[in-house]
Amino acid sequence: MSVEKAVVIGSGPAGLTAAIYAARAALSPLVFEGFNAGGLIPGGQLMYTTEVENYPGFPDGVTGPLLMKAFRDQAERFGTRYIREDVNEIDLGKRPFVVKSDEHTVETHALIIATGARANWRGLENEQRLAQSGGGVSACAVCDGAMPIYRDQELVVVGGGDSAIEEASYLTKFAGKVHIVHRRDQLRAGKAMQERFFKLVDEGKMQPQWNSVVDDVLGDQFITGVQLKDVKTGDVRELPCRGLFLAIGHTPNTELVKGKLDLDDKGYIKLPNPGSSHASIEGVFAAGDVADHLYRQAITAAGTGCMAAIDAERWLAAQGIE
Ligand code: NAP
Repeated sequence: MSVEKAVVIGSGPAGLTAAIYAARAALSPLVFEGFNAGGLIPGGQLMYTTEVENYPGFPDGVTGPLLMKAFRDQAERFGTRYIREDVNEIDLGKRPFVVKSDEHTVETHALIIATGARANWRGLENEQRLAQSGGGVSACAVCDGAMPIYRDQELVVVGGGDSAIEEASYLTKFAGKVHIVHRRDQLRAGKAMQERFFKLVDEGKMQPQWNSVVDDVLGDQFITGVQLKDVKTGDVRELPCRGLFLAIGHTPNTELVKGKLDLDDKGYIKLPNPGSSHASIEGVFAAGDVADHLYRQAITAAGTGCMAAIDAERWLAAQGIE
């Protein structure tokens, strides 16, 4: 079996940018682009986004799937090879590393992990239907909230953490009113974010719906409201709205490396040296949301994908592998 110079796991903006840079550095990268690992399809989270309006270079916006196709084609043009399978197992215990899918077993000197993270959803049938059809349900207010359809409308954000308050306050720039639906009567968000929340409530821009969970999402082509359930009394009520944004956390796709690489307490890959993509085992690099719980943007994922390829190239050169 010949040994690969660089294998990339993941085909979102991070993995494919790593592939573009690695391919141009003549590393002939092999990308395991996945099949449905973590409930994601090749291309990652952007495949579920309709309009991407904040990716630089696209003044008129671009759809997530088109953007990811462009990334993929660009990487292929410089010699990237793809395997459309999920990786089932990796062995980081010896070098070269071993990466296994159902049909392939590959050895590689450098390994770039860009398996991303998945937004947590309530898991309701109508929530998923309207999220996938672009019907006003999203897990990223920063990605989708500025669309004209949400202007001056009543919107709902679910969650009580920093993300929920940050996303909701972002939405107040456009929305008529933003309702925060939280399952308790106290926020999890930190002090600064709580202050922001209470100020916006005072200004009438935000309204809490305490002790409540979204029980169903209403609307055929487009969301018209949510059905809320009071977790204390069991009472059910309807709240009309034109947009629903979930902010109930993310789950990093690190099942493959659990117990093999150092992870932080939320399960994200730890990068021991700030500003570098090196993971806790030499020769392993991480890029994108799998190592980032804070920014989670396509452009930051692409940026760290670039870093991972450059770090891998330099590390390989230092090993005498060119
Ligand atoms: P988080 O802190 O884990 O908060 C998730 C929120 O969603 C919690 O309020 C939780 O309720 C609620 N939730 C979880 N599962 C739910 C379910 N099934 N149904 C209804 N509600 C549910 O996640 P996050 O807000 O995404 O933040 C992640 C990390 O990033 C945190 O460390 C945060 O501090 C950090 N962050 C910081 C900033 C900032 O400082 N600018 C911005 C964003 C994120 P409970 O409270 O009842 O558990």
